[in-house]
Amino acid sequence: MKKFTLAVVGLVAALALAGCGNDKSEQAAAKGAMQAQQTFEWKLVTSWPKNYPGLGTAPERFAKNVEAMSNGRLKVKVYGAGELVPGFEVFDTVSSGTAEMGHSAAYYWKGKIPAAQFFTAIPFGMNAQEVNGWLHHGGGMELWQELYAPYNLIPAAGGNTGVQMAGWFKKEINSVADLQGLKMRIPGLGGEVLSKLGGVPLSLTGGEIFTALQTGTIDATEWVGPYNDLAFGLNKAAEFYYYSGWHEPGANLEFLINKTAYEKLPKDLQAIVTAATRVANQDMLDEYTARNNSALEQLKSKHNVKLRAFPPEVMQALRQANQEVLTELAENDQQVAKVWQSYQAFLEQVKVYHAISELEYYKNR
Ligand code: CA
Repeated sequence: MKKFTLAVVGLVAALALAGCGNDKSEQAAAKGAMQAQQTFEWKLVTSWPKNYPGLGTAPERFAKNVEAMSNGRLKVKVYGAGELVPGFEVFDTVSSGTAEMGHSAAYYWKGKIPAAQFFTAIPFGMNAQEVNGWLHHGGGMELWQELYAPYNLIPAAGGNTGVQMAGWFKKEINSVADLQGLKMRIPGLGGEVLSKLGGVPLSLTGGEIFTALQTGTIDATEWVGPYNDLAFGLNKAAEFYYYSGWHEPGANLEFLINKTAYEKLPKDLQAIVTAATRVANQDMLDEYTARNNSALEQLKSKHNVKLRAFPPEVMQALRQANQEVLTELAENDQQVAKVWQSYQAFLEQVKVYHAISELEYYKNR
């Protein structure tokens, strides 16, 4: 009873204070009330076909969550690749503020920012779990923010596919020599590694891949993994499906946020945007984890896809070429050197524990 009385007295005192009307608190209250009424409509452009499994459903769920969490105060309209702008123009579109947000993959911008590639995937690098650790608790995000700041952009992790497949090949790869002249859709550093071994890498958006492979414009392609590759019907364009995705061991997607637009939001909506990106980030990995296995089963049993692993000598050559590519990049670009150092230091320490935890566990269960 005594406690209750004290609480009431406290509340009355607080109300009296709030009501005693100094100008500043009145202004703050008025501003708060105004902001609570204010609504925002944002555009979000993506590099994926509208509602494409995983990659395209993540920004849709993000938009839905933001609208629900903000009680309709922030509405985000999602555009598939080509609806508002082509898939490869997402970065510039959000940077200029034509759209407030984007969903894409940082390695598409390697021509502008070579170090951006570290924020999608590094061949033979970290997996999804490790990348998320580095980004959110290991200093990675701060480096990413620093890279995008000159473009008036705030980055956020936008989902992860998990370990990808090495891709679809029209012919078997039995030796390093078979990579000579191989025209393959493979963006980012993976493409540069292939190029070192005599291959010809190309960067095509998802929607362009099937036709290019079917018509023979390319001899091979990587895309994502069984869930996404089955959705594109890549099995109808090439016979051999190689594992594992040495080039993208945990492809991290990205949300791009126009900084000016973000700063115009009241603090609570800013927090909602940030929290909703984290939800979408985890949710995408969950979706791939749940769907890849059944898609692989269908590819094997229904579509008679021939699964193959690269011979060890090919994998070794790729690993070695990757070291050369990264070393050259770091020598020529200070940002790459800085990000690589942070990435490599995190990988070296995380893999010591993962060798006796994750790896041992997989072997033993
Ligand atoms: Ca890929």
